[in-house]
Amino acid sequence: MSDNGESDEVYNNSHRAFLQSLLSRATLTFEQARPVLAAIKNAQAQDGRDVQPADITEQDFSTFVNVTNAAISPFDLEIRDTLSQHDRTRIYALVNVSSDSITQLATTHTPDEIAFVKRCLDAMFETNNTYRSEVLAVRSTEAVRLAKAPTGQTQHVDATQGAQAQSLTMSSAQRMLQAMVDEGWFELSKRDFYTLTPRALMELRAWLVETYNDEEDERIRNCSACKAIITMGERCPDLDCTGRLHTHCKRMAFRAQNNNERCPVCKKDWKDAPPVGEKAATQNRRSMNGAGASTRSPTAQMDGANNSQDESTADEG
Ligand SMILES: [Zn+2]
Ligand SMILES: [Zn+2]
Repeated sequence: MSDNGESDEVYNNSHRAFLQSLLSRATLTFEQARPVLAAIKNAQAQDGRDVQPADITEQDFSTFVNVTNAAISPFDLEIRDTLSQHDRTRIYALVNVSSDSITQLATTHTPDEIAFVKRCLDAMFETNNTYRSEVLAVRSTEAVRLAKAPTGQTQHVDATQGAQAQSLTMSSAQRMLQAMVDEGWFELSKRDFYTLTPRALMELRAWLVETYNDEEDERIRNCSACKAIITMGERCPDLDCTGRLHTHCKRMAFRAQNNNERCPVCKKDWKDAPPVGEKAATQNRRSMNGAGASTRSPTAQMDGANNSQDESTADEG
């Protein structure tokens, strides 16, 4: 059973049940999958054997994922996995892999609401993603201000093509932001920044690259270690270098280089590496004074806000 475990397993009711449980939640980790798979196996079991969550192995899980993926690929669906940028937990999600996946929002939201979401994404990946400062997030106050549609230019969102997007009211913008969180696209940090969730990054990967990258400017960048899109972590101290590392990928990347703490791309010392993510906004504000929006004390919130806060990200010398 074990040597070619994949091919002798066929898609059946248990995979269908597994797919159902994936559909009902935005993401799944291996630990969360164990009780689900145990319950499915028990429901299907003919021999009255009682499967415990602890009996479910990673091999069982990956076999389930592989068999299900083979069955759903004709529908442009795929179970993908990525590492959490917060703690490196592996996260699985059912994603639509067609490059226009953002238009699926159109089934549940109006064109004006989607145009608003597009303005939020533009803020994350264009306005707040510059040579000096890769914030890749949008502060909630800034996001609400985006309720107002720009005049005189048509936005490029498939679902709104041809129509001029209308402004949302502040309260409907706020409701839409909450809906994006509830539907698993945005997450709101303790310091009030919206970013894309791991699931959104997986699902929108092709669309993001297509929308924001061009030949001279790659605004969507990958972690040099895990190769997933990076929206929080660190960047090479040489601002011209493409080297980026998730905080939790750093150790692994350096270990692979015989513990040389150097950029995996240009090999320069990875010393005082500037942050990628919302920390870049607070850092920016401190050094450039007033580039950002509202003025809440960043230092007061920084301590304690991030309990599991990484290693010793050099407090600006
Ligand atoms: Zn990484
Ligand atoms: Zn570098």
